[in-house]
Amino acid sequence: MVVNIFIFILGAVIGSFLNVLIYRLPREESIVYPSSHCPNCKKAIFWYDNIPIVSFILLRGRCRNCGNPISPRYLLVEFMTGILFLLIGPIFGFGIWDFGFYFAAFFICLLIVAFFSDLETEIIPDEIMILGIPFGLLFNLLKGNLQAAVLGCALGYSFLFLISLFGRSVFKKDALGYGDVKLAALMGAWLLYDKVLLGVFLGYLIGAVVSIILLSAKIKKFGDYIPFGPYLATGAFLAFFWGPQIISYYLTNFIGRY
Ligand SMILES: [Zn+2]
Repeated sequence: MVVNIFIFILGAVIGSFLNVLIYRLPREESIVYPSSHCPNCKKAIFWYDNIPIVSFILLRGRCRNCGNPISPRYLLVEFMTGILFLLIGPIFGFGIWDFGFYFAAFFICLLIVAFFSDLETEIIPDEIMILGIPFGLLFNLLKGNLQAAVLGCALGYSFLFLISLFGRSVFKKDALGYGDVKLAALMGAWLLYDKVLLGVFLGYLIGAVVSIILLSAKIKKFGDYIPFGPYLATGAFLAFFWGPQIISYYLTNFIGRY
């Protein structure tokens, strides 16, 4: 119980830092200077107004100085990072003292930053891949899966690169950004060659469902740009956490019958 509280708080504190990355990396701002400030009135935020989750609730989501609303994304990211960190133990069997716990937590953080920065700015920062690919390969090296990870990385990259070439020649515009292609390479380094394809497939599936909902609710018009990174990141997350279960469920229920 105490360990779980610690893990949740650790996740929320790291989530608070991820919020900084989500805002600053796509804008190419320094991540250390200046310290946290309100994007509206530019006033520095004191430590007691910067406590993960707690401060957002106490301030009712508004800046103490100017009263401008703070994006609910700040609360959401802190909370979800805490919850996802809590899932690592039950799903992977990693304890707080296992190196695997911190690797899994790191991959989750990369996906969260990719998800929200693409959603808000249509940019997936290169730093995600520059940091994430070597660490993914190292994680799999330690697990004895280096070859499968290198193959996954190359497969993810070339698969989405081909889809983007195809999309460009058929639709005469970029349906898929180069950021998505690089994100798929990152996914492969962590998920290996089998689960990277699952992750991309799930990304397309979720993307299709959400796009139909957005179009029918008239939130988006046909032909509007819808960033694909958030769907890819979601697919990657599902494949990372439940990949073997999803693959065996699919094989027994859809392939096994024939
Ligand atoms: Zn303000």
